[in-house]
Amino acid sequence: MRTRLVAGNWKMNGSLASNQALVQALVPALAPLGEAQYAVCVPYPYLAQVERALHGSKIALGAQDVCQFDGGAYTGEVSGAMLAEFGCRYAIVGHSERRGLFGETDEAVALKFAAAQRSLLTPILCVGETLNERESGVTEAVVARQLDAVVKQCGMVALDKSVIAYEPVWAIGTGKTATPQQAQAVHAFIRGRIAGSDRKLAEGLRLLYGGSVKAANAAELFAMPDVDGGLIGGAALSADEFGAICQAAAACNKMRV
Ligand code: PEP
Repeated sequence: MRTRLVAGNWKMNGSLASNQALVQALVPALAPLGEAQYAVCVPYPYLAQVERALHGSKIALGAQDVCQFDGGAYTGEVSGAMLAEFGCRYAIVGHSERRGLFGETDEAVALKFAAAQRSLLTPILCVGETLNERESGVTEAVVARQLDAVVKQCGMVALDKSVIAYEPVWAIGTGKTATPQQAQAVHAFIRGRIAGSDRKLAEGLRLLYGGSVKAANAAELFAMPDVDGGLIGGAALSADEFGAICQAAAACNKMRV
């Protein structure tokens, strides 16, 4: 059985005061939940604060990006080793906002994926199509291209120690969620493509859905056979919403035992 994972992506939001209040509410809310795993991916300056606040809880820490290089003259960048030193377990790579707004190519994302793994972080690799690509019928081709860039750089076996998040760009921050059937179809495509090379790896790989997940739609998305949890943006900033999404994942985990 694949343990469900719910990861919050705080994006460029937060302050010392609001982070403290959010984590102080989340830690006790998630404490009684069962089997699923939980994480929050926070802005770099707040890693130390949130690491301290999460100490002893069941919520893991993650970053929203990582530099593809390990150290040196890369002004403004943060290495995987630095993230690991601050207690990160996860690093998001290839988020559509990084690809779209900051020009990250498939190849750069693949290098970031490799850098995360060199520092023993679990990369959460984001893939997904734009609305235009979906309407042009090339969703699978786009997702395949994004996946293949990582496989080419790191090898198929590297996917074993990773998480893949399918995030249709048209659903991110828009309030337009993919239907459970749309999410399932792409997740099944991703798993099938990987299974073509390594069935066992594909069966164990966690595939998250991201794109306007909220308390009201989480349970039906997580009930899909190939949806193993969620990457949550806006709703991760509310303890009540994120707590309810985590609860939906934990309940779903129990159902699938
Ligand atoms: C995200 O940023 O990864 C995301 C899924 O955002 P939202 O949940 O706000 O659509």
